[in-house]
Amino acid sequence: MKKNSYSYLNLRDEIELKIKKYGGWVNTHAHIDRAYSLSKKNVAYIDATLHEKWFLNDELKRTSSVNNIYDRMAYAVENMVSQGVQALGSFIDIDEVIKDKAIKAAERIKDKFGSDIKMICFSTLIFTR
Ligand SMILES: [Zn+2]
Repeated sequence: MKKNSYSYLNLRDEIELKIKKYGGWVNTHAHIDRAYSLSKKNVAYIDATLHEKWFLNDELKRTSSVNNIYDRMAYAVENMVSQGVQALGSFIDIDEVIKDKAIKAAERIKDKFGSDIKMICFSTLIFTR
């Protein structure tokens, strides 16, 4: 925008300055155990109801190893840290399909990135059947 005598307020810049002043962004609701799971195949279900697309989560959970989940989580956390996220709250699924694989990966993530970002993981038992 051209500068003139009018004092233009860039609200985004003002908000980002305050966010940085207080330590950075806070992501209060993530699902890092499902990060980067969108594909050209499953994007077709973008308008489906949650119930209609649960099988996609089940497929992901069934076919993912702890290392696969860890890699997705690590990529997500690295991206957040690089964007100035100071704290992260993420849900981590525990259910009959994924069992304890995601929580094991999350424990490794906390060990690896705990000094870079504050992390709180919420786990709830999910009964889908
Ligand atoms: Zn959620």
